[in-house]
Amino acid sequence: MAGKRHIIGYAGVLSAALAVGFVPVTPRLDYYIYDLISRTDTYTAPPQSVVVAIDEETLQARGGTRNYRPILTEALQGLAQAQPAAIAIDMLLADRTEEQIDKPLEAAMLATPNLVLHSLLTSDGRWEDPLPLFKPLAKAVGHAHLELQRTDGISRSIALQVIADDDARYALALEAYKIARGAQIMESLEDLQIGDTAIDLPRDGARAMPIRFRAPGEIPTISVLQIPHNLEAIRGKVAFIGVTSLPAANDRLLNPAGVELPGVEIHAHAYETLARGDFLYPAGNTLVLAVCGMLVLAAGLAFWFLSGWRPYALGALLIVGAMASPIPFYAQGIVFPFFPPLATSWLGVAAAASYQHFVVRRQLRLAQSDKERYQQAIHWAAHEMRTPLTAIQGSSELMTRYNLPDAKRNQLSEMINSESKRLARIIQTFLDVERLAEGQVELKREPFTAADLVATCHQRVAPLAERKRISITLDTPIDGTLVGDRELMEFALYNLLTNAVKYSPADTQVRVRAALSAKELRLAVEDQGMGIDAKELKNIFNKFYRTKKAEASGEVGTGIGLSIVQQIVTSHGGRIDVTSTPGKGSCFTMILMARPVSQVASGAE
Ligand code: ADP
Repeated sequence: MAGKRHIIGYAGVLSAALAVGFVPVTPRLDYYIYDLISRTDTYTAPPQSVVVAIDEETLQARGGTRNYRPILTEALQGLAQAQPAAIAIDMLLADRTEEQIDKPLEAAMLATPNLVLHSLLTSDGRWEDPLPLFKPLAKAVGHAHLELQRTDGISRSIALQVIADDDARYALALEAYKIARGAQIMESLEDLQIGDTAIDLPRDGARAMPIRFRAPGEIPTISVLQIPHNLEAIRGKVAFIGVTSLPAANDRLLNPAGVELPGVEIHAHAYETLARGDFLYPAGNTLVLAVCGMLVLAAGLAFWFLSGWRPYALGALLIVGAMASPIPFYAQGIVFPFFPPLATSWLGVAAAASYQHFVVRRQLRLAQSDKERYQQAIHWAAHEMRTPLTAIQGSSELMTRYNLPDAKRNQLSEMINSESKRLARIIQTFLDVERLAEGQVELKREPFTAADLVATCHQRVAPLAERKRISITLDTPIDGTLVGDRELMEFALYNLLTNAVKYSPADTQVRVRAALSAKELRLAVEDQGMGIDAKELKNIFNKFYRTKKAEASGEVGTGIGLSIVQQIVTSHGGRIDVTSTPGKGSCFTMILMARPVSQVASGAE
């Protein structure tokens, strides 16, 4: 029963550790670890795209930023020679400019077969599209939003689809990929399908695709001025045209490796990720919960089954393992968060360790003291039984060996009879006390007089007192009827009397006083013995406690008598009081519920 409760408590503590550790906190740490791991990526396959850069030199040679469109026209004309698989323009072409500028651009676009243009969301949530002049010339219009979270300026993923104003746009890179492959984009709530490539990113997660960046410089960047010299490098690739000039470009972001990149190059990296088909997916909550649950379970099992340093060593290993868990997941294409396994493994180990330490160790100690108490009780019973057994043995031997006169024979057999009864009583008391200690005893409820109780105990302790020439005086008459278990009550009073005799020097007095008030009987045993120090007084009812004086006196004792006395008295609804002066004597008073004998006899209330 206790074991079952124990398991439930343990499971409860561990579940709490899991729940607290799993609560989502700021993902900053998760990002940091993701960035670290993603830096280890290396790719050997040749890139499928090029960046056609309107760089500083181009702007200087062509008269600055106000000539973007003539530069773009020049780029498109140059690229026509190279026949790229597609051309994506990462520049907003929403405003009308002069006729002699836009016309040649229109003509260049017309001559470009696989053109992708871009659009942006305005601050009021509408799409800002290319001019109607240009838009029909593009095979697709993609959105150019690079930032998903504006937390730290690091670009980790792009939204493959942005829905605004009832109009869904795919990312520029995705449109370029579609055009280059000559496929269509099919979308469902759960995924995107381009040709035979499926991307399992749900719509309600903005279809955030982690970009797997290649090392800086791996995707060739070709200045517009250099196009004629690089036709072969561009042929068959997808060309992303955009501004890279540091002062002019307004969309520079960091990649997870901390390298600053112009927006157009980030589109190219997103394209490479698509082209390789090498997607990373965020770990689902169920997976994260399962891994965290397993970590907590492992911590729980370790501390349940192992002892000493082993569970701690295993716990430390678990924490290290939890910290490293994003690495193998990453290798499987899963972005696993760092913090939840770390937090749950720590909390799991801490919870399991403290539970085992405090609860289990405490129970162990309790069980141990229970065992000791039981041993002591057996010790006591064996000790008490020795006297009557010796008497019985001696008497029976006398009876068989010698031819004794009848009178002597009768005396001996009476002795055997009474001593075996005493033996039975000791065994009964032992059993009662054991059951009393476990709180499962049903007390007898019989009436008996205080006078009888005192007389019986007095008789029993008399030989012991005589040996030390200690006189026991009784207050008479003793009034009062008690209700309860007489055997146990006798045990209690007898114990107080033997203690009084045991812990008193020879030739002293022990007094038994009885005072009956309306409902209470105060039964006091007063001695002139060694007494008990005030500091030790509160401990004497503890099991096995013996005062220093008592130890020094050479009197044998187990230190459990008083604890049993207290248990008997309290289970009868009474209490026990002690006053003591070291060197002068002690007084133990049992305060019990009782009524005058006359009232009980007449049956009055
Ligand atoms: P035991 O007598 O077997 O040691 P008890 O539980 O009866 O065990 O008593 C506990 C301790 O209380 C004794 O060891 C002794 O130190 C102290 N004690 C009990 N009664 C007296 C007394 N009348 N005078 C002095 N010390 C006492």
